[in-house]
Amino acid sequence: MASTLHGVPAASGIAIGTCLLYDPVPPEVPHYSIDANGVGAERARLERAVKISAQELGQLRDHVHVHVGKQEADIFDAHLLILEDDALLDGAHARISDELVNAEWALWQAAEEFSQMLLELDSYFQARANDIHDIRMRVIAHLQGRSTTQLQNLSEPVIIVAHDLLPSDTAGLNPAYVLGLVTEQGGPTSHTAILARQMGIPAVVGAKDILTTLQHAHTREIRVALDGSTGVVEIDPDEQILAAYQRAAQEYHQLKEQLQTLRTLSATTRDGVHVEVAANIGRPQDAKVAVEAGANGVGLFRTEFLFLDRTTPPSEEEQLSAYSTVLAAFAGKTVIVRTLDIGGDKSIPYLKLQAESNPFLGLRGIRLCLAEAHQHLFRTQLRALLRAAEKSQAALWIMFPMIDDLRELRQAKAFLAETEKILLSEGMLQTAVQDRLRVGIMVETPAAALLMDVLAKEADFFSIGTNDLAQYTLASDRMNASLAELHRPFHPAVMRSIAQIVTTARKHNRWVGMCGELAGDARASLFLLGLGINELSMEPNSLNMVKQKIRSATLSEAQALVQHVLAAETAEDLDALFQA
Ligand code: PEP
Ligand code: MG
Repeated sequence: MASTLHGVPAASGIAIGTCLLYDPVPPEVPHYSIDANGVGAERARLERAVKISAQELGQLRDHVHVHVGKQEADIFDAHLLILEDDALLDGAHARISDELVNAEWALWQAAEEFSQMLLELDSYFQARANDIHDIRMRVIAHLQGRSTTQLQNLSEPVIIVAHDLLPSDTAGLNPAYVLGLVTEQGGPTSHTAILARQMGIPAVVGAKDILTTLQHAHTREIRVALDGSTGVVEIDPDEQILAAYQRAAQEYHQLKEQLQTLRTLSATTRDGVHVEVAANIGRPQDAKVAVEAGANGVGLFRTEFLFLDRTTPPSEEEQLSAYSTVLAAFAGKTVIVRTLDIGGDKSIPYLKLQAESNPFLGLRGIRLCLAEAHQHLFRTQLRALLRAAEKSQAALWIMFPMIDDLRELRQAKAFLAETEKILLSEGMLQTAVQDRLRVGIMVETPAAALLMDVLAKEADFFSIGTNDLAQYTLASDRMNASLAELHRPFHPAVMRSIAQIVTTARKHNRWVGMCGELAGDARASLFLLGLGINELSMEPNSLNMVKQKIRSATLSEAQALVQHVLAAETAEDLDALFQA
């Protein structure tokens, strides 16, 4: 069945390994009525699924104990305890007989009630609510005869092949067990691709029909080789192809090693012009990785990632701890924390947001935070941020996402000022901290790009989000693999927009950085340098490559390139220019 598939490159690196076909649980839980005389059979069906689940949990516990560690294995013991607890199963059995409903629905509802009860107790029990969800999904999968593989519980290295992955699926992955990712859906700036790059996992997205192709192979062990820089996926490669991939993997590794010498050097041109290079992070533990990779600061902390992969929002104290960890790692440097950018492809099921036909054009980012129904999320986050700022040894800059105009910026700033007043009156803050903060915005909508001169009067700084700026400027969905050709920042319209944003910001003496994926693309580094950008913020893996590019050039070379780029008429002209 050897074949070659071409997808969209999403995270560089070579991966060779056995693939795991991930076909997740459909979100719909079947709900139907049963006959009174079918109660016995339905209960027996539930008991059987519970028994299989318990056996499976025992096996998982033993396997994980040997291959991963005791602490990780304890999770499965906790699941077994819950599964054996009468409170959950009695509730499900009662529903089958009293309400005459199917076992899946009865268990779903009983687990819901059980979790609600735990959520009202202390934080230890609140964490168990997550476990209950896992358990019910496992039992329901067995009721339906489906696979129960969970990406978070891998115990040996695999290449994950999926139709699509949610950012929450990817955020929970253990990079030690994920050699690579291949998805049928998604674009290169989808958050799954961004997370893969952040974790250093080679990835290809938009590999059409790969899951179905492999599912039809009906063999359990299928070997795959992929190149995340070209988007090529080799299914069941022969010895010759395999050897070529092994060589490429070695070369890639050597290149990364060579670039390591740049880790402690700055991004300064041959004639002494300096650009800050910072890291994009999504979790507090990423801060340490970023420091080790040589980041000068954090140019984008995507705080919504703290909200993924759980069943309730993080509390003020949890957020305070996450922000403080990052600030402590970057003492003496600057950390730009972006307030919640929920929406688009980052849906958070437990927030129960209304379904939208165009989520990227919907209630997203600052719009959601300012909407009355969700303001509490924003207030909690601002409280945690202001409290973190008070003790911080790093400069905290707060950045609002998806700002369209001055009205939104003013509203967001008013929330910040009001939150500080409240904290001071409660004694949660000893002194005002706002003077020490800088408050800025992402420039990622065409509206903000066009209104730069107006926004510059009230925003302390700007950071260009090229992922969304390209999507909205070109009206091409960043998630749609079929539009990958169109959705590219190397397009004359996007280049001109970036140039205009940087020039206007500098004219108004405003700091301007870039934190979209283009900032980590070394092909664009000289163009951005030539425009006069202050900072490039990227996945830590890209830092050395960008530094190398900047250190190789002079400002006048970069400025000459700007002229050529702005004169380019087509995306193909730009490709040729950047290739040269
Ligand atoms: C962007 O849009 O470029 C950006 C950095 O934000 P996100 O990718 O999180 O939407
Ligand atoms: Mg964005």
